[in-house]
Amino acid sequence: MSGKSQTKYVFVTGGVLSGVGKGISAASIGNILKSRGFKVNIQKCDPYLNVDAGTLNPGEHGECFVTVDGAETDLDLGHYERFMDIELKQSSSLMSGKVLQQVINDERAGKYLGKTVQIIPHVTTAIAENIAETANGFDVHIVEIGGTVGDYEGLSFIEAIRELAMKVGRQNCVFVHVVYLPYLGASGELKTKPAQNAVRELRGLGIVPDVLIARSEKEPTDDVVQKLSLFSGIEEDAIVLLPNARTIYEVPLTLENRGIGRVITQKLSLKSSKPHLKAWQDLVGRATDEYAPVVKVGVVAKYLNNQDTYMSVFEALKAAAWANNYQVDIEWIDAENVTEANAESMLKHVDGIVVPGGFGKRGLEGKIAAAQYALKSKKPYLGLCLGLQMGVIAAARNAGLTKANTIELDPNTPDPVINMMEDQKYIEKMGGTMRLGNYPCHLTKGSLARRVYGNDEVQERHRHRYECNNNYRDQYEKWGISATGQSPDGNLVEMIEAIDHPFFLASQFHPELASRPNKPHPMFLGFVKTLIK
Ligand code: GLN
Repeated sequence: MSGKSQTKYVFVTGGVLSGVGKGISAASIGNILKSRGFKVNIQKCDPYLNVDAGTLNPGEHGECFVTVDGAETDLDLGHYERFMDIELKQSSSLMSGKVLQQVINDERAGKYLGKTVQIIPHVTTAIAENIAETANGFDVHIVEIGGTVGDYEGLSFIEAIRELAMKVGRQNCVFVHVVYLPYLGASGELKTKPAQNAVRELRGLGIVPDVLIARSEKEPTDDVVQKLSLFSGIEEDAIVLLPNARTIYEVPLTLENRGIGRVITQKLSLKSSKPHLKAWQDLVGRATDEYAPVVKVGVVAKYLNNQDTYMSVFEALKAAAWANNYQVDIEWIDAENVTEANAESMLKHVDGIVVPGGFGKRGLEGKIAAAQYALKSKKPYLGLCLGLQMGVIAAARNAGLTKANTIELDPNTPDPVINMMEDQKYIEKMGGTMRLGNYPCHLTKGSLARRVYGNDEVQERHRHRYECNNNYRDQYEKWGISATGQSPDGNLVEMIEAIDHPFFLASQFHPELASRPNKPHPMFLGFVKTLIK
């Protein structure tokens, strides 16, 4: 080690079940450490063989979160950014595919000349090195391992963090294990046995956890902590029970109240000041206010079976409502059921309409019909990426270009108002080849876009293959819309708005990714403010 101070590590693993809030727990630990003034970074390791999350199905895997530098990642990075109010980089997402690709490339390049290349030590070393590099320069680095301990495919990550802990010194590492306590209706109790086994499983792989987070859907009885402590060998002080919270944003406060911030900083010998959580407490107060008035937003979308698909969009809508001491009631409207004929009856009752991002043909006609209805009825509309493309098509069709389309839906349309981006036409590989990450956008003077941002140039995150066809731009005014956000050279349409409308605003980028629970994104804020009015 150099003379620089040693980065400390918090490793977060899971047992019993996945999907019980390991990501939220990791993000919450980040929150309470950052609130003590530490410089914290965080990283997600996923055992999938995919190289990134861009090619995963959002219906199965949830939203694909895009970082400012253009990585397509797991939605947990969205939790991290929101809970810690930081912008993460590509390096915060590590999937097995990326590691294996690197090891195999190195093998071909001759880096291991003469050696037998193996999972241990070559793959595990590559993982450990990647983690250490990402940690470099931070006081604390949090590493969440996806899946549950014992999964065949996750073993190399568990072994890698065990080796890394040995290398940097066990005293510089805290292992947090997140387990689940199932509820047995017949006996009316929360069972701890699966959690005990999950701790044993982790120990069997050479890692003794320091902190145990036990999720449950019911309120546990007092003896649960004692029981868990006795069987797992973890001090009672370092065990926290997490029954279902009123809002996920309550979790950092629960951890802090239980003393987990103190346990972690003490174990890591970090000199810690008092956490500053006042603003976060206020946020939780607003988020859980049951008596707040409500605005109703219809999200016209597909993937209706998975709440996680539009995670950042929902969180951005909530944040905008909370900032105004409102709650938002989000109604999912199945795009496949909306038509030009029934749009009014399906959407009349909502205060505003959101068309979020999406790929593929399914549901596109319904989204176009929803945008057509929003334009005609002057119902507030917020379009996010695909939502902009649908807005342009809607305006064109309302103005009489009834066959206007995107070539994503109809490659042979006579009016391709949305076209494949020029530099996308010759790309054959699907992974990591879209227009990704932050690009600047210039906002037109006097526009709604400029008013909501209060700024004339912004940087926003992108993830798309198609764009507005410039051959149609001189018709926009006739269609009643205006391209009020553009790339600095004017070549790409970044935002559109309807000219004579209280709020019809859409962006080619994804503003939801930059929104924070206590710092809602200006576009969402402007949208919700219009609904309140
Ligand atoms: N499918 C559209 C495109 O590729 C929109 C993408 C999105 O909404 N993220 O341009």
